[in-house]
Amino acid sequence: MTDMYYNRAKQEGYRSRSAYKLQQLHDDAGIIQQGDTVVDLGAAPGGWLQVATEIAGDQGTVIGVDLQRIDPIDGVELIRGDMTEPDTHAAVRAATETADVVLSDMAPNMTGEYNLDHARSVYLAEQAFETAQTLLVGGGDLAVKVFDGPDTDRLRETFDDAFEYVRTIHPPASRDSSSELYMVGVGHLTAPLAEGDRLSVTVEDQGREGDGIAKIEGFTLFVPETTAGDEVEIEVVDLKPRFGFARVVD
Ligand code: SAM
Repeated sequence: MTDMYYNRAKQEGYRSRSAYKLQQLHDDAGIIQQGDTVVDLGAAPGGWLQVATEIAGDQGTVIGVDLQRIDPIDGVELIRGDMTEPDTHAAVRAATETADVVLSDMAPNMTGEYNLDHARSVYLAEQAFETAQTLLVGGGDLAVKVFDGPDTDRLRETFDDAFEYVRTIHPPASRDSSSELYMVGVGHLTAPLAEGDRLSVTVEDQGREGDGIAKIEGFTLFVPETTAGDEVEIEVVDLKPRFGFARVVD
């Protein structure tokens, strides 16, 4: 069977047709910036690594991890290991303290038994999520492959709590018959709080728009209708990667 992306990858020098999936995810969600540190899990044979290095450029850092050996790529650090093993998580942390982007195209060995393949793919996606929680800077992005199924919604809820917003994308380069989708978390939240949290704060300062500012472990919360010196009970209503909004509760 001729496959357009397979042929294109051969012609354009990409190691896999998957390269186009990352390009399409990036075109759609703007995941990688020049100069970024990118950690790519399940990276063999290296199509995504090629695309990530092209976008991150000379100032970027790209690290690839896989169970399989990956042929060297200029400027890419490679780790051979199993992301379900703590040693591999430690090796990734030793390679970089932070990342702007975490990618995972990890896929389990397929058994053909739909629910089992789905459950294993969700487990791999959770390993990628854990890596992202450890490494991602505030505002960083995570894109993870998962085979769609009953646990996709639960995975999405986990992403929802950790990112400014989440999208699920089925890139055109994914085969039509494939149940794979990519869950993309944009804008990693580093707040030491969650939306809906209630707490007592002292308003310390006044923002340019006139809102009161409270600091929680250095994280800025804007609290409308308060002024410096107020001691108020608040509820967190909206979190962005680097600041949030709260309302006064009675
Ligand atoms: N994105 C790659 C590219 O562009 O060339 C293709 C990745 S391929 C679809 C999936 C990869 O996930 C395989 O190379 C496989 O070895 C890897 N993988 C699966 N389970 C893994 C695990 N537990 N730890 C590390 N890599 C894993």
